[in-house]
Amino acid sequence: MVDCNSGASIAQRIATLRQRVPASVRLIAVSKYISPEMMRQAYAAGIRDFGENRIQEAQAKRGELADLTDITWHFIGHLQANKVRAALETFDWIHTVDSLKLAQRLQALIPAVQNSPKLLLQVKLRPDPQKYGWTISELTAALPELDQLTELNIQGLMTILPLGLTPAEQLLVFQELHNLAETWQHQAWQHLSFQELSMGMSSDYPFALQAQTTMIRLGQVIFGPRSIP
Ligand SMILES: *Cc1c(COP(=O)(O)O)cnc(C)c1O
Repeated sequence: MVDCNSGASIAQRIATLRQRVPASVRLIAVSKYISPEMMRQAYAAGIRDFGENRIQEAQAKRGELADLTDITWHFIGHLQANKVRAALETFDWIHTVDSLKLAQRLQALIPAVQNSPKLLLQVKLRPDPQKYGWTISELTAALPELDQLTELNIQGLMTILPLGLTPAEQLLVFQELHNLAETWQHQAWQHLSFQELSMGMSSDYPFALQAQTTMIRLGQVIFGPRSIP
């Protein structure tokens, strides 16, 4: 259940979250469909990381919030091949590298764009036809090739839970991702790093914190329910 604390202001909700989230965890405010005015309220309450899942919406907001120069912008949606250049130009982090083809396209375009965002590999730990991402066996097979893509700044793993898991299963899946990252972090790669974990949304973030995530992506618990047109 998402407790949106509906009477509270954005600042109050962020203050409550700050008491639950360790300072070492990056708290990303997911601002898809949220107005720049509400994002300014979150900024005023201390948020410096914003997550968006559509490129054009993010570009427009970057323009409207250009005076807030210390925002870190995170792309958390599925990245289509024809949007890769725009994503590279717009974001500081891309959480959703979900195929070798996409990784190769990023590798090809980064030198031309002269911006190299930090990247996370999106992992699908349970079968879920609704979601993009590598299965563990697919990613295990792809890692040696990813390690050769020297333009890429791969920092870790990201996951989105499928719907319908029990709380115990949610925790288990997050712990599996943590263990996977720890195993891979101890292997000798040229470029790959697995020190970052992006997991946990409004409905499940306490379990992600328990599983030692380094970033959580929260929308509704900060901004309230989204009204999607
Ligand atoms: C929308 C979204 C979130 C935030 O979801 P909430 O339930 O609003 O916290 C987090 N991660 C991804 C990938 C999303 O698309």
